[in-house]
Amino acid sequence: MAGEWLAYGELGLAVIGFAPFALHRWSCNKWANNKLLCPQSSSKLPITILLPVWNESLIIEKKLSNIANQNFDVDLFVIDSASTDDTVEKINSWLNDFPDAFNDYQIVRMEERLGKTKAVMHAMDMLENFSGIIVMTDADSMMEPDSLNRINRWFSNPQIGAVGGTPNRIGNLKTEDNYRDIYAKLRVGESYHDSTPFLEGSLLAWRSSSVSSQDLYSKSNADDAQIATAIRLNGLRSIQDPDLIFKDYMPLTNKDQRRQKVRRAQGLVRLLVRKRRHWFSRRLGRFSSILKVNAWMHIFSPILIAGATVMGILRNITYLTESNLMLVLSSVEFYCIVSWLLARTNRSIFGFKTVGTVLCGLENLFVAIVYAGMGKSLHMWDQHQEIRKLISDDD
Ligand code: GDP
Ligand code: MN
Repeated sequence: MAGEWLAYGELGLAVIGFAPFALHRWSCNKWANNKLLCPQSSSKLPITILLPVWNESLIIEKKLSNIANQNFDVDLFVIDSASTDDTVEKINSWLNDFPDAFNDYQIVRMEERLGKTKAVMHAMDMLENFSGIIVMTDADSMMEPDSLNRINRWFSNPQIGAVGGTPNRIGNLKTEDNYRDIYAKLRVGESYHDSTPFLEGSLLAWRSSSVSSQDLYSKSNADDAQIATAIRLNGLRSIQDPDLIFKDYMPLTNKDQRRQKVRRAQGLVRLLVRKRRHWFSRRLGRFSSILKVNAWMHIFSPILIAGATVMGILRNITYLTESNLMLVLSSVEFYCIVSWLLARTNRSIFGFKTVGTVLCGLENLFVAIVYAGMGKSLHMWDQHQEIRKLISDDD
């Protein structure tokens, strides 16, 4: 009898836990048909490039060349959080060598490293009187030609507050491609329907007037998602453009990949929790449903699936009885375990990869939630140095 109850419990939690993935995927596929087009004409707004850096000596010159190669008139604003290497010296000497690369530039050095979010907030304050487009970009991501032109055109649509790029991640982790394919579809679908709460700071542009540092919370990471969400809450749209591509490198090992994903997951979870009163806000219209389903996926699903897993384990070690229900359940459990193990060891096999990617994502979210519960905040992190070495060797 107890076995049956465990089975129903497990099944119930699993269905409620997985439902938003199926539902939201379906919605986003539908919304993606209603494409939002990038305007043809320039917004004529000035652009300032915001470059937050911490110990990027290995790659900073490549990054500056990448921006300059856009051949677009821009200002440069660098915010450095007490780098201990010669990042800033290298920037200065590069600017000496290429004095025409930027209209104007400013390099701000913070005395202490307090995390990227804090640095971005400081930069926002200093750029308070700038009225135009701020394009934030990570040192380890590279823009495709013509990106700044495309970004500039987006802002001639007065509804647009933020535009985020779509990653082209280089590397051998097959699961990283699965993550990207799954999540990029969601972000783009949400964008066409209304807005996405999650954009990537690797390449993120916004209208300077649409967000201020007071909208951000410095002790959490995911500054990028915080900006995207705040802009929508302030009344403009935040969208991910599938044709605005940036190139970056994925971590080299599964372990590094997990470390990065757990950290980012925690930023998203904490953002959703802080914005919980908007999940049911009528004023926000479609965006509140988007927040709601993401809260379900990022906060409740990991806990529900963890609960289902515990029930499944209990049932299997204590009350294994033969019935049709148990047989079905055991096959589903087996399929899930195989999918999860394959994804966890970075094997991508047709028929298993989507479920495996979702399960690994849930695992990372669950770890992030547990860390947050224990008061362990991941808003400052060690750099992925192997990525920097790869970029500096790459021609
Ligand atoms: P990941 O891609 O999420 O693993 O993050 P990265 O380590 O690549 O960092 C993204 C960008 O933020 C890079 O340009 C870093 O140099 C920069 N960054 C990271 N931490 C800090 C910080 O504490 N202060 C500042 N100013 N920049 C930071
Ligand atoms: Mn990076």
